[in-house]
Amino acid sequence: MPEPNPGKPCGRFAPSPTGPLHFGSLVAALGSCLEARTRGGRWLLRMEDVDQPRSRPGAAASILATLEACGFEWDGEVMLQSTRGVRYREVFEQLRAAGAVYPCGCTRSEIDSASNATPGSDGAPVYPGTCRSGLPRGKAARAWRLRMEGNIDFDDAVQGRRHQNLPRDAGDCVLLRADGLFAYQLAVVVDDADQGIDHVVRGADLIDSTPRQIYLQRLLGLPTPAYAHLPVAVDAAGNKLSKQTRATPIDAARPGPALFAALSFLGQQPPAERRRASADLWAWALAHWKLENVPHVLTQPALDYPLEP
Ligand code: GLU
Repeated sequence: MPEPNPGKPCGRFAPSPTGPLHFGSLVAALGSCLEARTRGGRWLLRMEDVDQPRSRPGAAASILATLEACGFEWDGEVMLQSTRGVRYREVFEQLRAAGAVYPCGCTRSEIDSASNATPGSDGAPVYPGTCRSGLPRGKAARAWRLRMEGNIDFDDAVQGRRHQNLPRDAGDCVLLRADGLFAYQLAVVVDDADQGIDHVVRGADLIDSTPRQIYLQRLLGLPTPAYAHLPVAVDAAGNKLSKQTRATPIDAARPGPALFAALSFLGQQPPAERRRASADLWAWALAHWKLENVPHVLTQPALDYPLEP
């Protein structure tokens, strides 16, 4: 575990190793790193490989090598979610003993076709609560869900005040999946707490997950970090750049133009003459980073970064 650093923020970048680092993930890495470093804080790395079926062999190593080539320096060892199963189990058992989770026998298609499953704030159908008060006769437990109640409000440093009614907007989320793996929502809450993260800076695609993470933190008696959700880079069709859609990987041999474009995307105005040299860009960014200049939008078109101007 990292050494505590009283009074200083601790941030993190937590990529899922589903492919190489691309412009969208570079933006999250840069924003979280600059926000931590310019406040004199620590910046940790965590490989979110809890979803083993989605992880790609070699992707974690490639992400780390590209970050290094871009000039990122992280503190301590990289935390790997794939090594944390015992800890997740311990927290899950704590929730189970408290009656906070319940077994669910519904398949995804049953939930999708349920007439009472209304769309939540992220557009996905909200679990209609079929197994909430006990498994219906003839159904076997597949997954375990967290019973969610009430409202969560929080102030996002970029996106402003956010509100969710958990039963209506999110619904009871899965913590232990039908395939036996712990879900991201559980892993992220336990890891952020165990790593001492008190500043979460990440893409706004996760803003709708934040209230359920805060709910889980409160249930477990864990502190709630400060949150800042950065605009997500989208392509011309409005889709999020992602490793699964084969967004162009960052060129580790010439990271300057991509770093320049990522800073510009985040509303900073790096001088054009520093465009090529990543060391110059870092020096400028560490002296001039301002979170308040980040556009207050959830998505934004990705910026092109031709290698030759
Ligand atoms: N692993 C997630 C991703 O790559 C990020 C999770 C987080 O920052 O909380 O999209």
